[in-house]
Amino acid sequence: MSATAVNLKTPVTGDFTLNTGLFINNEFVRGAEGKTFEVINPTTEEVICSVHEATEKDVDIAVQAARKAFEGPWSKVTPQERGMLLLKLADLAEKNADLLAAVESLDNGKSITMARGDVGAVIGCLRYYGGWADKIEGKTIDINPDMFHYTRSEPIGVCGQIIPWNFPLLMFAWKIGPALATGNTVVLKTAEQTPLSALAFAPLIKEAGFPPGVLNVITGFGKVAGAAISSHMDIDKVAFTGSTAVGRTIMKAAAGSNLKKVTLELGGKSPNIVFNDADIEEAINWVNFGIYYNHGQCCCAGSRIYVQEGIYDKFIAAFKARAEQNKVGDPFNEETFQGPQVSQLQFDRIMGYVKSGKDEGATVVTGGDRLGDKGYFIKPTIFADVRQDMKIMQEEIFGPVAAIAKFKDADEVIKLGNDSNYGLAAAVHTKDLNTAIRVSNALRAGTVWVNCYNALHHQLPFGGYKESGIGRELGEAALANYTQNKSVAIKLN
Ligand code: ADP
Repeated sequence: MSATAVNLKTPVTGDFTLNTGLFINNEFVRGAEGKTFEVINPTTEEVICSVHEATEKDVDIAVQAARKAFEGPWSKVTPQERGMLLLKLADLAEKNADLLAAVESLDNGKSITMARGDVGAVIGCLRYYGGWADKIEGKTIDINPDMFHYTRSEPIGVCGQIIPWNFPLLMFAWKIGPALATGNTVVLKTAEQTPLSALAFAPLIKEAGFPPGVLNVITGFGKVAGAAISSHMDIDKVAFTGSTAVGRTIMKAAAGSNLKKVTLELGGKSPNIVFNDADIEEAINWVNFGIYYNHGQCCCAGSRIYVQEGIYDKFIAAFKARAEQNKVGDPFNEETFQGPQVSQLQFDRIMGYVKSGKDEGATVVTGGDRLGDKGYFIKPTIFADVRQDMKIMQEEIFGPVAAIAKFKDADEVIKLGNDSNYGLAAAVHTKDLNTAIRVSNALRAGTVWVNCYNALHHQLPFGGYKESGIGRELGEAALANYTQNKSVAIKLN
């Protein structure tokens, strides 16, 4: 067993070994300063293990490895071979799916069934971008008979990627898929709350056959390793998913250092709109899924629920009954829908919002308390009669807290829906095609779902309007985040 490995156990895997070092140059190494930090199990509040902490020095070492790979072996790998490597990585993820899902549940607290779903999406995403690797094309542009002009779509170089804790493995795949497909090298930092699934994944990178230094995975804190990435002078691009506040910091650091390219996927306060003519049972299922999926810890959570006045009372009663059926508890129970929130800090933040909703006079329909006295569990909570100016209607809560308000007609709800600094997602529930199309066109959001929610696919671009982000992840659109155009003009004899 290597010096940085520990023995762990989950109810579905039994005992296994996890390497807790920094994965640089295809090897697990100790942090340069020998620091480690504890990883907490959100279900029990107990320490799972300690992992190595990357400092500025480690970021430097990882960047040097990524630079060397970019200029050396990785530049000689053909696009088709890059694609094959991603496909191999996806196959290995599939082979190790049970372990990856179990580590995700243990560390993040999401239910094992949802963790399996995440791993399935990881595999799909890697395959999708594996398919793109040899389809990155330039153009020839006819300007003048004495010249030959063409463009090339070239990789940006060394990419820093900083990911959050709500979908640790899935965000990892969303980030590395397009970056590697287009020929970049990567230094990726996981979130300090949830470093374990990426550590379980890292050995597969070597096993798949990626040259050393192409994909480096480091564990550490935002203010130390994250800040070192965003201000590094030899990182060409930084991609970040997380809070809008940290997104601003990263953009400033990029601007203040080497003007590295920046893409951001940030917060949201997405409106979920239910019209009188919606199929109410279906709508309630989607509203429930929209807010409580992943314990409300989704940047695109449908957290502002606007219900048309004709069905308002009926909707609230039925939604209460639906929310109370969500099984909250041990993530390793196959029946569980909602596990604990990820950390004490998040738990406290959410409970602070619940208190503010009560203080500001919103009606608690259900929930409003923690569940049990161990683990960061919060009951699915519904606030009704929420005014637009209340904090719980304005700010991202990132927890299982729904805020509901009544509206009269489409014009009013479009105004309410757009009354936010965010613009990540939105949804409309109606049987009327005109309403569906008119309202979705009018909503200022990067994704609009009609008669569904959280319908994310790796083929479909995802990203924010307004303060919800810059750039698009997923789909062909994400390739643009990781390529730059070169125009070549050749004078003919
Ligand atoms: P949350 O507030 O929900 O924990 P954050 O946006 O703070 O979400 O964290 C998302 C990711 O950003 C994590 O990997 C975290 O370490 C990183 N991060 C936090 N602060 C900074 C920072 N100042 N610079 C760079 N990365 C950061």
